[in-house]
Amino acid sequence: MSYLTHLECTACGQTSSSDELQTVCRSCGKVLYARYDLARARRELDRGAFAGRPPTLWRWHELLPVRDPAHVLTLGEGGTPLLPAPRLGAELACDRLFIKEEGLNPTGTFKARGMAVAVSRARELGVPGLVAPTAGNAGGAMAAYAARAGLPAHVFMPQDAPEANKLEAQVCGAEVHLVAGLITDAGRLAREKAKAQGWFDVSTLREPYRVEGKKTMGYELALQFGWELPDAILYPTGGGTGLVGMWKAFDELEALGWIGARRPRMFAVQATGCAPIVRAFARGDRFAETWENAQTMAGGLRVPAAIGDYLMLDILRQSGGGGVAVSDQEMLAAMSEVARIEGVVVCPEGAATVAGLRRLLQDGHLRGNERIVVFNTGSGLKYLDQLRQAAGASPARA
Ligand SMILES: *Cc1c(COP(=O)(O)O)cnc(C)c1O
Ligand SMILES: [Zn+2]
Repeated sequence: MSYLTHLECTACGQTSSSDELQTVCRSCGKVLYARYDLARARRELDRGAFAGRPPTLWRWHELLPVRDPAHVLTLGEGGTPLLPAPRLGAELACDRLFIKEEGLNPTGTFKARGMAVAVSRARELGVPGLVAPTAGNAGGAMAAYAARAGLPAHVFMPQDAPEANKLEAQVCGAEVHLVAGLITDAGRLAREKAKAQGWFDVSTLREPYRVEGKKTMGYELALQFGWELPDAILYPTGGGTGLVGMWKAFDELEALGWIGARRPRMFAVQATGCAPIVRAFARGDRFAETWENAQTMAGGLRVPAAIGDYLMLDILRQSGGGGVAVSDQEMLAAMSEVARIEGVVVCPEGAATVAGLRRLLQDGHLRGNERIVVFNTGSGLKYLDQLRQAAGASPARA
């Protein structure tokens, strides 16, 4: 079922057991990655076999951490479409533009990928209950998979999180705690709760398996592009799980001999009101300073500090990519533009990648003949307030 062998710290290299519950590195407090016996997998697996499997992310089960199929919790996550966007591309003077449409996931966002894998593995390792801090979508996804697992769940989210997020967590039976503050404040409360109750905290990159679920976006891109990778990827970046997950996936695919050494240029798109990674990239810093007074309507991007900052910054530099920040106004305009031109009702975070692409093309960082993927990380239907504004700004097509 799985070639999982151990965990390895991404900062100090210390290894630890993958068959007991782990959070961050015990020596240095940084992010742990799951490691697999890829040499053996290379001998035993054939990449051609994967296309014919049922198209959830569990098609990659050998490269995921769950050992016993009986512990797999699925709501049909993953296997999302890679949509060519020729009409939007024409507007932006970009010949080969694709939207990776993550809004089709269960719970309406790509958070389902991470939570499907993390909750499955946590249950396999015997947790009695789960807690998660969230800007909104991770809490909804965690609640859904906890319900599927029959495990109790506590979710901590900012009190101004979208109504849809509060309700989806509640209807799935989670206890929802509204926090006066941001996701970082919610994180502190969640850790206290986990400690007091002996429950497991599935915060972004503070346990090793959500990133394993998110890395499947990288596997899927390789499969969907015929075992090649695009030239550039624009990713709406909060905690950065998807960004670092895809990069990990590309390294694994190369170790398996399924792709070559060429990598896409990776671009982090953030909001002008909360852009710690973009700022640290521009300054040449190794770590990102906390962003004070973080403000943006795109909850997924309202992450003032991320434990995986050094991983993201390394990837942006190694790949020859970069960072770009866009305003909430640009996001709203892009929401109506993408919906009106391509029929995809994107979330504000997804819209940010389109606004970011426009900027990168104008500034000459990207060229119009490159193969470019923008990520729509969630359905715009979860964001009725923003959707109302975007719809008001969208003139009917003549
Ligand atoms: C969480 C979230 C993001 C940011 O994802 P990370 O992988 O944590 O950077 C982007 N968009 C949406 C809709 C989200 O819910
Ligand atoms: Zn370490």
